[in-house]
Parts: sequence; structure tokens; C-alpha cells
Amino acid sequence: MKNDIWQKLKNEIDIKYKNVGVHTEWSPFVTGNNVVAAVEDINGKIWTGINIETASGVVCVCAERVALLKMVTESNTVIVKKILAYGKELPKEELYNWSPCGACREFLMQLSNKNKDCEILVDWKSRKTILLKDLIPYWWGNERFKNK
Ligand SMILES: [Zn+2]
Repeated sequence: MKNDIWQKLKNEIDIKYKNVGVHTEWSPFVTGNNVVAAVEDINGKIWTGINIETASGVVCVCAERVALLKMVTESNTVIVKKILAYGKELPKEELYNWSPCGACREFLMQLSNKNKDCEILVDWKSRKTILLKDLIPYWWGNERFKNK
């Protein structure tokens, strides 16, 4: 498919992490690359990330948030148009059917209220997407964005 943004996001992941093996072990405590993600920001720039797992659960970071943290810190951008994330070891038919965890959803919502319209791919084959606002209805923080 020409101009297929989801394929473009996947291609960025493939290029960026082609030399990083699944379950990469950076140290006896820190591993990752079981999950990969690509984020398209409001300017059309694509950011990628892989998950980082540690022996201390609270300091693990999802692939989505790694990509988002790169976006925020390297470009000062907070608005996201699209997110693709998937587990590398899922059965092939489920490979690209993924949605961000609660922590990632919350981080996206806190970055900008415009992220409620961020599109998340949930079915690769049909290119079915869902909007973040449908994954996190009745979000608690809308009031604070009203005067921004
Ligand atoms: Zn997450």
C-alpha cells in the first residue's frame, strides 16, 4: 500500500532496531527489545522505542514511552498523531495487534489534551485503529487543560 503510514512506522522500527536482538541483555539486570514502538508526532516525524525491563519492576519502561520520551526531550513536541507497538514474539497473526498500557495512556493524556485523538493501530491486517480517548474515557485531568 502506497502512503501507508503504518507500514512506514513499521519500517522505521525495522531499520532502527535491525541489529538489536530480541531479549537483549544489556546487563544481568537490564534487558529489553521484546516490544517495539513507533510514534508519529504532530509534525510527521517518527520516533521509535523498545521496552526496557529491569530487576526492579518500577523502573521498567515500555517501548511506547521510550519513543515518547525521545520525542519530548529531543524535539520539545508533545502531540502525537499515531502509535504502532507490538510484541516481537507474539504469534504472527497477532503480531501488530497491540494497545498501550495504562501508564502509557496516562502519559499521553498528560502530555497534551490533543492526544485524546491519537490513533492507535489495533489490527494490522485491516488497519483498524482506535482513538486514545476511547481507551481512556472519563480521563481525570481534562479540567486543567481548559485554560491552556
Ligand atoms: Zn506502556
